Amino acid sequence: MYMYVRMIDYPQGTNMNDNFTELKSRRSLLKKAAMYIAGVAVLPLLASFRSARAAEKLQKADVKYQDKPKDGKDCDDCMHFVAGATPKAIGTCKVVEGAVSPHGYCAAFTPKPRNRS
Ligand code: SF4
Repeated sequence: MYMYVRMIDYPQGTNMNDNFTELKSRRSLLKKAAMYIAGVAVLPLLASFRSARAAEKLQKADVKYQDKPKDGKDCDDCMHFVAGATPKAIGTCKVVEGAVSPHGYCAAFTPKPRNRS
């Protein structure tokens, strides 16, 4: 049985452990570079995800939003309304983009379910 021993010429003043350490640090550097590249690649995806989420909401013009009630219906009676800090404060809407008045109205108006107690 033959045993193959590879003879390596190490530069003067270095040994196999130096090369091993250098190899480990190179691997570490490559790992970090790969993680950085993966992170950079994900950033545009996150940006498009955010804009897609913003685009999910309806535009006021599309639902004929108005700042006044219609036929006694207004935003603070709608299940999509998210109230502001006070009952009269401007709030937001779960389905319509932008700030909405508690006394506004739009075509997406959906009455809050009535309490059956
Ligand atoms: S869906 Fe229309 S009516 Fe309802 S809270 Fe939003 S903007 Fe107001």
